[in-house]
Amino acid sequence: MAEVLVVVEHSGGEVKKVTLEMLTLARELGTPSAVVFGGPGVVGPLVGKLSQYGASTVYAGEDALFEEYLVAPKAAVLADLVRSTSPVAVLLGSTQEGKEIAGRLAVKLDNGLLTDVTGLDGDGTATQVIFAGSVIVKSRVTRGLPLVTVRPNSLTPTPTPTPAPASAGAQVTPLQVSVDDTARLARVVERKVEPKGARPELTEASVVVSGGRGVGSGDNFKLVEELADLLGGAVGASRAAVDSGFYPHQYQVGQTGKTVSPQLYVALGISGAIQHRAGMQTSKTIIAVNKDAEAPIFELADYGIIGDLFKVVPQAAEEIRKR
Ligand code: FAD
Repeated sequence: MAEVLVVVEHSGGEVKKVTLEMLTLARELGTPSAVVFGGPGVVGPLVGKLSQYGASTVYAGEDALFEEYLVAPKAAVLADLVRSTSPVAVLLGSTQEGKEIAGRLAVKLDNGLLTDVTGLDGDGTATQVIFAGSVIVKSRVTRGLPLVTVRPNSLTPTPTPTPAPASAGAQVTPLQVSVDDTARLARVVERKVEPKGARPELTEASVVVSGGRGVGSGDNFKLVEELADLLGGAVGASRAAVDSGFYPHQYQVGQTGKTVSPQLYVALGISGAIQHRAGMQTSKTIIAVNKDAEAPIFELADYGIIGDLFKVVPQAAEEIRKR
């Protein structure tokens, strides 16, 4: 059956959620094969999960090269793999790295590329949400194979209905790693790992609680964090909150920040400017707390609470704690 290559995003020995989404999507198009890049020994712990979500083959790109150099070697090896396996589609995550690999791959293969795709039909027609979410586009790659990057949190990842017994997981096939010097132009000289907090990663979280300028100060963001922790969610912030120094930029949601699409998005003291909506409007359920009844966020919210967040949030937290 037609093979669909899915480039695996992983961290700390775990497969990232966007990969499980891509495998779920890939099953609509053919038989998914997972492509893993990393240092020696990286593949083993990932195979079980990849099999569970439908990967029949895992191409193992294990080499120190992938840790030491930036994305260019991955694009080079991937291009060779595409040429030798002729897949019907290639899926990557719409993440910083995924998009960079995809761009380089498209050039190497002289192939079209669609980014930030939120859905893909069996015939390769992709759905994209553009212009800050005001336009939905259906597009298709007309040169080469469907090469797409998939926006995280676009669909619910589901394991295969009949999971293979542990003994019959995906077949692991080592990848030939040989790249020329053009793939070694930029080297990682230092890697500082931020201590992993207890909260889920913003773009992968199923609950996001965000604060805006209305939160008033960095100290007051403790209220946002408290609600996020009670709901097992991540914390986000509007640009106004970030620009005011209330919360770090890496948590900014919106056009110039992260795009999130959780099951639940809670907006506290956020007016709902189009640039903010661009990063959160595909959330499944949106709750807004704002003291201004005319705030545009209420046009988007499934549940709106007109009120002072400093009264509403502690009350909500108290109720949640009782349950
Ligand atoms: P405000 O618009 O000031 O809204 C604050 C809200 O808090 C108000 O609605 C107010 O009624 C409410 N409030 C105040 N006190 C309370 C209280 N006690 N209880 C309840 N409610 C209260 N913005 C982003 O967020 N992300 C982006 O990525 C982004 N990118 C941008 C890119 C460009 C090119 C440009 C031009 C702008 C961008 N912006 C972005 C900025 C955007 O236009 C808005 O300025 C910003 O989103 C406003 O943030 P805010 O809603 O927190 O603040």
